[in-house]
Amino acid sequence: MKPSYLCTREEKNVVLENVPVTGYAAEGKALARVDGKVVFLEGGVVPGDVVDVRLSKNKKDWAEGKATHIRSYSPQRTEPFCEHFGLCGGCKWQMLPYEQQMAYKQQQVEDHLRRIGHLSFPPLEPILGAEHTRRYRNKLEFTFSNKAYLTDAEMPAKGEEIPRRNALGFHIPRLFDKVLDINTCHLMEEPANLIKNTIRAYAEKHDLSYYDIRQQQGWLRNLVLRVCSTGEVMANLVVHHEDEALKGLLDHLLEQVPAITTLLYTINPKKNDTIFDLEPKIWFGKGYVEEKLEDFTFKIGPKSFFQTNTYQGEALYKVTREFAGLTGKETVYDLYCGTGSIGIFVSRQAKKVVGIELIKEAIDDAKENAAANGVANAEFFAGDVIDIADDAFFAAHGAPDVIITDPPRAGMHEKLTAKLLEVAAPRIVYVSCNPATQARDLALLSEKYTIERVRPVDMFPHTHHIENVVLLQRKY
Ligand code: SAH
Repeated sequence: MKPSYLCTREEKNVVLENVPVTGYAAEGKALARVDGKVVFLEGGVVPGDVVDVRLSKNKKDWAEGKATHIRSYSPQRTEPFCEHFGLCGGCKWQMLPYEQQMAYKQQQVEDHLRRIGHLSFPPLEPILGAEHTRRYRNKLEFTFSNKAYLTDAEMPAKGEEIPRRNALGFHIPRLFDKVLDINTCHLMEEPANLIKNTIRAYAEKHDLSYYDIRQQQGWLRNLVLRVCSTGEVMANLVVHHEDEALKGLLDHLLEQVPAITTLLYTINPKKNDTIFDLEPKIWFGKGYVEEKLEDFTFKIGPKSFFQTNTYQGEALYKVTREFAGLTGKETVYDLYCGTGSIGIFVSRQAKKVVGIELIKEAIDDAKENAAANGVANAEFFAGDVIDIADDAFFAAHGAPDVIITDPPRAGMHEKLTAKLLEVAAPRIVYVSCNPATQARDLALLSEKYTIERVRPVDMFPHTHHIENVVLLQRKY
């Protein structure tokens, strides 16, 4: 059916009716076309739905809006498996079958390379899907709040007081002080839910206070969990101040959940939630857990960075190593190396690995991980990659045969792409968690490089996030 409003002018508060959703754009937004104008849609709609849309932006060439009503549902839809679907910001793509999710991700990588990069490239290799599509995260952080998010059904009638309720769960997107109370989360293996629900039950029974982020008061703040493929389990409970209630709570938790291998607590009297500048204290166990990628072991402390999906992290590194095409003779640079995991993973097939990473603590971990795994041919350096990777650095550590680069979502700084063109390593493997900025950077690199292989990897099932690996070969 044709939409009832011809959307050609710049008007606000326009409601479009009967709009067929046709595809996905970047960042998980759905897409429709109304009289040639692209409309980006929020509100959990999928291609094949027919919806009414209230526009929030209406520009000359494009518009943006939220679906206010779904007139008919797409036949592609499937039943979401989580009771918190629709409110929780977590697994937003559950209403799409997994095969369909992967097809959209694959398509999006291709679209970005074509439309943003204007690149020529060989046919994409099929996206590497996950075997574990649920309970795949090794890290989760829950938040305590005295302001539970209330659904419409829970809201009192007009004039009545809004009930105050505690919550232990996830922040509601865009509402910074509201937390959705989570019963069962499907993102992590047990005992994740058991730990969370045991703490909640104890806190309610003993009337322990939950943090109020606006008033900056209350005791229980965050719960950070690591459940590893090795079976090790770490819990870090973050509270506002030392309190005698702590002993009762932590001892009760250990008694109820014997699977916990290490238990920590952290005192956070600050306004913000980050524990990066705080000192977690060990209550029980060795204070860290270990995770394995192939036969390499990585030590993960309460503040360490590690790929949050171990299974697909390993799959991603295997693709990266394959693309690098190592024979044992190569000098490999691992840019944005984090805790050195890619460099360590490829080290046996390389002559030498040189890793660079901004965060000093991550470099300390990288060195420790290399030593613990008997990797003697890797060196790691802390600092901004733009400052570190200069001519003197390359001269000192050797001309790169392969550069592996894995920047954050913003992609590489232009100074770095310029440097890579100057250094002109025979091969570059570009690992990206944002194919849009990757396409932009590849366009710059296309001056000297051709794209040989492209393979997306699905690290985060039921979300719109995409990881993509590209192999570049120097042209001459
Ligand atoms: N390759 C790693 C981490 C990738 S995440 C892994 O697979 O685990 C990107 C990393 O880039 C982060 O660790 C971040 O701290 C680092 N980073 C961000 N900006 C940087 C910069 N300008 N110079 C060096 N490292 C940077």
